[in-house]
Amino acid sequence: MLFAWCVSAAAQDYAGRQKLRAQSNELRKEVIRVTDGVYVAVGYSASNVIVIQGGGGSIVVDTSTDPAAARTIRTAFGKLLGLPVRAIIYTHSHPDHTGGARVFAGNDHPEIYSHQRLLEAVPDIGRAGRDGGDQFGMALPDSLYINAGVQMEYGRVTPPTREGYLPPTRTFSGDQLLLTVAGVRLQLLYTPGETADAISVWLPDKRVLMPGDDFLRAFPNISPIRGARLRIPEDWIASLEKMIELGPEYVVPSHTRPVMGGGAARAALAAYRDGITSILGQTIQGMRQGERPDELVQHVKLPPDLAGNPYLQEFYGSVEWTVRGIYADREGWFDGNATTLYPLPEKDRAAKLVGLIGGPDQVLARGREALAAREFKWAAELADYVLANDGANAVAKRIKAQALTELGERQINAIARNYYLSSARYLLKDLPPQ
Ligand SMILES: [Zn+2]
Repeated sequence: MLFAWCVSAAAQDYAGRQKLRAQSNELRKEVIRVTDGVYVAVGYSASNVIVIQGGGGSIVVDTSTDPAAARTIRTAFGKLLGLPVRAIIYTHSHPDHTGGARVFAGNDHPEIYSHQRLLEAVPDIGRAGRDGGDQFGMALPDSLYINAGVQMEYGRVTPPTREGYLPPTRTFSGDQLLLTVAGVRLQLLYTPGETADAISVWLPDKRVLMPGDDFLRAFPNISPIRGARLRIPEDWIASLEKMIELGPEYVVPSHTRPVMGGGAARAALAAYRDGITSILGQTIQGMRQGERPDELVQHVKLPPDLAGNPYLQEFYGSVEWTVRGIYADREGWFDGNATTLYPLPEKDRAAKLVGLIGGPDQVLARGREALAAREFKWAAELADYVLANDGANAVAKRIKAQALTELGERQINAIARNYYLSSARYLLKDLPPQ
């Protein structure tokens, strides 16, 4: 009986990892026919590439990460990519969408469309040395790597490069641009969400919507951990509203697989909108009642009718990070507690706490107990108190590394898993094996 309970408790612990592993199936390589004349290559690169066939040529939406990936995708499309390529459309500026353009352009000199804001996009500062690379698990061995949430991998196989990027040749700055290319009617709609330069592509005659990264099969990455600004949730919600009003029959995102059939497509978009709206609303309401971030994250959750929705699972974005990001954006860095107006330096606080507990050895003994009791967050914190003033302490490093590994292995969120496991490896890097 006890054994059965232990087994089921352990299975529960790793339920998130099981779901994350299953998400890899969503990211498998395949050229999918969406409807007549619309095809999407999923899983060959960090982002999808979409081909729209016209009379006397094709339109390409997003171009993958780099020339090597783009060449593989070009080959996978084969004759489906009717030549010449008459237009390339960037849904937004991110390198995984713009890095393979040169390969699709070939010698066809296509017009390259984007929103004007793509040219104004300010690069994120990032977190020097510990940023996107670790959230994408670029330094993790294959044995520890599962996926990157909405892409199988980014930068692990081919280092990201900009040599395949081509600048847009035609931009627009308003809400939409109406076009006919190769006989295909297109609407480019300004839909800020994951980025401020985001556009969606709408084919009114086929009722196909290409929302770029504003809709993916994962909770949206509204508040990235890699050193970037909050993605404004109100804008994102308004953009989803605009997409829902179009009444698409097919939604073809730039990561993960397309949603086919009007009912499914509209329900998926509505769930996305409702999920973001709910988290934003609960957070603002709690803030109005004076709650601090640590209090908010205890209760702001997706409502029961959305918590199990396949499009809102936290493979990529995280509800908790979203709450903290909204708070920081709206209330600033200060949490309202006067103690934290001018806090003690980290090293001073750590030294005092370590002294209270009875010295580093006592703290580390409590850390080992915390690991045994599966209080992994607390174990990592205890190790930090020692490392704050003794950065080379091998025992503390090992305790923290084990705690982070245990936390990473219990994650559904690929970014969190990759960051936890990468950080654990850095801690152990210079230590002799045990
Ligand atoms: Zn993307």
